[in-house]
Amino acid sequence: MNFGYRERCLDHDPGPRHPESPDRLRAVRERLAGCHGVSYTAPDSAPVAAATAVHDPDYVEAFRQFCADGGGSWDADTVAVEATWEAALASTGLATWAARAALAGADGRDTPFALGRPPGHHAVEDGAMGFCFLNNVAVAAQLALDGDSRTDGAHQADGDRQGDGTDADTDGRDGPAAADTPEGGDAGDDSGTDDGPGGDDSPGGDTPGGVDRVAVLDWDVHHGNGTQDIFLDRGDVFFASLHEDGIYPGTGDSAETGTGPGEGATLNVPFPPGTTTSGYLAAVDDLVLPAFAAHDPDLVLVSAGFDAHEHDPISRMRVSTEGYGLLAQRLACFAEWADAPLAFVLEGGYGLDTLSDSVRVVHEVFDGYQPAPADEAVQAGARAVVDDVRDRGFDLAETPDFGTDD
Ligand SMILES: [Zn+2]
Repeated sequence: MNFGYRERCLDHDPGPRHPESPDRLRAVRERLAGCHGVSYTAPDSAPVAAATAVHDPDYVEAFRQFCADGGGSWDADTVAVEATWEAALASTGLATWAARAALAGADGRDTPFALGRPPGHHAVEDGAMGFCFLNNVAVAAQLALDGDSRTDGAHQADGDRQGDGTDADTDGRDGPAAADTPEGGDAGDDSGTDDGPGGDDSPGGDTPGGVDRVAVLDWDVHHGNGTQDIFLDRGDVFFASLHEDGIYPGTGDSAETGTGPGEGATLNVPFPPGTTTSGYLAAVDDLVLPAFAAHDPDLVLVSAGFDAHEHDPISRMRVSTEGYGLLAQRLACFAEWADAPLAFVLEGGYGLDTLSDSVRVVHEVFDGYQPAPADEAVQAGARAVVDDVRDRGFDLAETPDFGTDD
């Protein structure tokens, strides 16, 4: 895979006892160092205009000012320091890079994965929560829909899906701040201060036309309430979340299916504690991918948290390391079958070993690895939830059997 990474994302440090630690990215990078086929890109930070495309501008300004004043506790869990503002724009920039890279043709071994932090999926339209400040995946989805007209040409060719095809191999690596080694890319990097529209570095690279439909799968153990909040009443973004029922943030009931034009475009699978890989695969096979197929997305984004891992310290779910490989493989097969660009964006995951092992196995799937099949049966509780969600009347289209070996 091609991983987006910026040293700047380490500067957001909420304190020694906070689970969302810079050590998370250090551990992932260390684990990936021993893997075949890993490449890195250090894209520009997102401009503020990209954030305000999904967030209330007053909130974004309040967040900027909060950091400028030295930070502190936004709420009990969500802690900022002065550098958090720049880290958040860098993290959002990684997500938008990943979406653009996928749209420009990066797939297979070049599938993009944004390794940013702070994470984003709890950030709602007008506020930070749950360790999240800017909703990275939502910004990436919105940017794909808008095309590059909204946020200037800071990333010029990255989103040029209608280009001559040569962008695919160089995407994200041709900008002034880009480099194949993140350290090199961050050297002297001050692009995060470029916070306004109308950048001067867009020589004919704009793609005013965006895509029509995006699908987001959020497999973090916590409900992706922020992403749901932002797109709840819209039909152009299909949002599916697999999460543990009854934990933070308390939303994500299966009855939350969207409102207005977005009715039927939000799909929540609130699993009981203890759900294993087989339950997740059942939800993906029976609900998420058929719903995605009906939505016919032009881009698939994965809010990839790894805190449903069986050994993650903050959840009771039991997804195995290999299970994340199987989930990734399902998405890869779907993307190929549906001819839909696919990109991953890091969310949570708080055991340093489980997080880094899980990211590694996702990478290895795109490098040709066949994960071990999940041999346990789908638990009755998980099956009941999948059946309940199916009864909500989602538009589901037939898909091939992507789970060939399990
Ligand atoms: Zn989480």
